[in-house]
Amino acid sequence: MRVGVPKEIKNHEYRVGLTPPSVSELTALGHSVVVQTGAGLGIDFEDQDYIDAGATILPDAASVFAQSDMIVKVKEPQPSEIALLESRHLLFTYLHLAADKAQAEGLIKSGATCIAYETVTANDRSLPLLKPMSEVAGRMSIQVGAHYLEKEQGGRGVLLGGVPGVAPARVAILGGGVSGVNAAQMAVGMRADVTIYDISNARLAELDMFFSSQIKTAYASKAAIASAVKNAHLVIGAVLVPGAAAPKLVTREMLKTMKRGSVLVDIAIDQGGCFETSHATTHDNPVFEVDGVIHYCVANMPGAVARTSTFALNNATLPFVLKLASLGAEKAMAADPHLANGLNVSNGKIRHQAVADALDLPF
Ligand code: NAD
Repeated sequence: MRVGVPKEIKNHEYRVGLTPPSVSELTALGHSVVVQTGAGLGIDFEDQDYIDAGATILPDAASVFAQSDMIVKVKEPQPSEIALLESRHLLFTYLHLAADKAQAEGLIKSGATCIAYETVTANDRSLPLLKPMSEVAGRMSIQVGAHYLEKEQGGRGVLLGGVPGVAPARVAILGGGVSGVNAAQMAVGMRADVTIYDISNARLAELDMFFSSQIKTAYASKAAIASAVKNAHLVIGAVLVPGAAAPKLVTREMLKTMKRGSVLVDIAIDQGGCFETSHATTHDNPVFEVDGVIHYCVANMPGAVARTSTFALNNATLPFVLKLASLGAEKAMAADPHLANGLNVSNGKIRHQAVADALDLPF
């Protein structure tokens, strides 16, 4: 198959659909790969790296789309990219269509087959192509939290791990799923005093086994969260109710009880956030303050560590890319129901029930 990798054009997006090592895997199997010049430059992949992996470099997105059957990207296609899509194309990328009717209508009109990373499933009903980004955001949350706890950032002036003779900072993690666990691993590594709150007793039991005595676990009752927020230096919001807005676990009233210079990192901001006072921010201007408490609410945290994120994403997407390239979309989806769950649009129709429902479009 002819596989194409355009340069991402969303503001501050430095990730790229395929790394040079992923391109090597494709070309070794006899597929041809075309890459837009400079596609990986933002994260230090030179055109020559792609050429060495067997790809051909093309000057612009139009020629990449014209000379490919499958387009592999990271972010949802922008209007200028949708205009290049034809019915013969297979598009494999994040789409997040449920909140983007204009994009959905554009993809419907193109007639292309569009498989969304975020709805591909795994046996345990998890979402394997979302997982790497939750891992990145979870690990990053402690890094940014530690940074904003520093005095010159407006923070409380507390070192996460303390020092001999001085107690470490208290970190409360709300939600013990993928991002919560990854946050906990980093916080434990930095010797903070960590408690994870969740409403799933089964999950709390798993966490207790996994971390042993390195962390505490607590059922996420309102009272427990109120007490956690009052005492914590750093609170990480990492909850998810699939398909729904994040529950507002930390109210404005609770916030007032927090120490000045404490830090909230709301990873769940892409689902509306789990702190009542959260609103989405960007990497250009990542934090704001309410009642003296620093809020970090960047909706695309993995973009800040684009190189790590690109490798992590490729690790998860490559097996599917190889399957799609070798079998074609129809056969690959017939052979793998989890990949088939990724199908969002084809032949001018929405093919995913939840997406159709969210957009009020026919399925
Ligand atoms: P997950 O499904 O792995 O974990 C969510 C956890 O929240 C589960 O253990 C669940 O039991 C728990 N939970 C649900 N309701 C709760 C409640 N009321 N109180 C306490 N715990 C509760 O989810 P995840 O992959 O860790 O993702 C978490 C959020 O982070 C999602 O909204 C995801 O989209 C988002 N995310 C954001 C970024 C970013 O850049 N900001 C990046 C990746 C993921």
